[in-house]
Amino acid sequence: MKRDAIETFFATLAAANPHPATELVYSSVFELLAAVLLSAQATDVGVNKATRRLFALAPTPQKMLALGVEGVAEQIKTIGLYRNKAKHLVETCRILVEQHGGEVPGTREALEALPGVGRKTANVVLNVAFGEPTMAVDTHIFRVGNRTGLAPGTTPLAVELKLLKRIPPAYRVHAHHWLILHGRYVCQARAPRCGACAVRTVCGFREKNDRP
Ligand code: SF4
Repeated sequence: MKRDAIETFFATLAAANPHPATELVYSSVFELLAAVLLSAQATDVGVNKATRRLFALAPTPQKMLALGVEGVAEQIKTIGLYRNKAKHLVETCRILVEQHGGEVPGTREALEALPGVGRKTANVVLNVAFGEPTMAVDTHIFRVGNRTGLAPGTTPLAVELKLLKRIPPAYRVHAHHWLILHGRYVCQARAPRCGACAVRTVCGFREKNDRP
């Protein structure tokens, strides 16, 4: 996709939704980290259902640590991989309490050192909580980046780096949410809704349809 088209692509998404936000429900940086950690291979709706119960019992790393692996697992067993996620979350809380004064650190290095926190989770936390222009490439962003010609790549990291290079600076902080929401609701996996797509004119997908 050419530079002008990329500018139009993001200007259009920005005009439609000037303040995009994550659909995960949280009320602190710690809850955001926990929700993202639990969200691998689960929907935001499913995670929100589980965290409503979990965060009511344990809204801080100290309380989550006290709840323990079994206690956390009991609250999140409706989401996939819950045993491993419970283990990672409690171990992460131990490190937050012992090494970071109970706070979520704001650097990639410290975040990625936490159990269950990979590059994608760190990117979400750095973006949403600390306002950094990071790009957490999930299945939606990977698909939209490739399909539209915005940032073709064979791996999430290749797409991430290309997006960071190509997206005009003014759009970088919010780009991650615009792309996720666009992929989730319009440029859907099985059948994109090209007939209802605001960026259709600049999209490079050869097999556009008329689906509303
Ligand atoms: S035109 Fe179709 S393929 Fe292109 S971004 Fe829109 S929904 Fe996706």
